[in-house]
Amino acid sequence: MPDSPARLRVEATADRQFGTNSYLVWDEATQDAVVIDANLEPDAMVALVRERGVKVRAILLTHTDVDHIGGLPGLLAEFPDVPVAVHDAEREVVEAGKPLRQTNWGFELPPVAKLDRLQEGETYRAGSLEFEVLHTPGHSPGGVTLKIGNALFTGDALFAGSIGRSDFHNSDGQLLLDSIKGKLLAEADEMLVFPGHMAPSTIGRERKLNPFL
Ligand SMILES: [Zn+2]
Repeated sequence: MPDSPARLRVEATADRQFGTNSYLVWDEATQDAVVIDANLEPDAMVALVRERGVKVRAILLTHTDVDHIGGLPGLLAEFPDVPVAVHDAEREVVEAGKPLRQTNWGFELPPVAKLDRLQEGETYRAGSLEFEVLHTPGHSPGGVTLKIGNALFTGDALFAGSIGRSDFHNSDGQLLLDSIKGKLLAEADEMLVFPGHMAPSTIGRERKLNPFL
């Protein structure tokens, strides 16, 4: 993990259809980077990677709804050897192309060179970056929050002023609340929240103002 948050940089790109955030996270000292989630406009992320001159070491998935993985073919075409990391509960989606929801999603995932695990309580290392994995299911079974330095990438669990949908057949609203309250609100007020959609926030702000909590 970067010794100080000052070494850590975060930038986002969002697609126009779903407003889903893909994040580029990198260590300024080493230029090692990861992409968190693959929205439907991977070209914007590829352009950002080139502009910043960073080395993508892995693609991490907070979960596997189509708006978060639809850009994987585009990213893997550009970074063919990087591992893709996902929680075991949604591994099949990436490994076997089995859609997370009961919908026909109309695209094919290319074979992934290396499929890594994101496991509760474990550290995921990508070059000089080290992420702590918090399993935060409820929106989907394998939803994870990735923690590094003073940043939490919460996927579709926690948003600024809102929480993820739990009306899908494999969602669980109570479990989502338990995930957020038990794991995310256990974090310090200063922790930055980078959600799967919309603007960033902080744990303190969500603790105080989020009407769903
Ligand atoms: Zn989403």
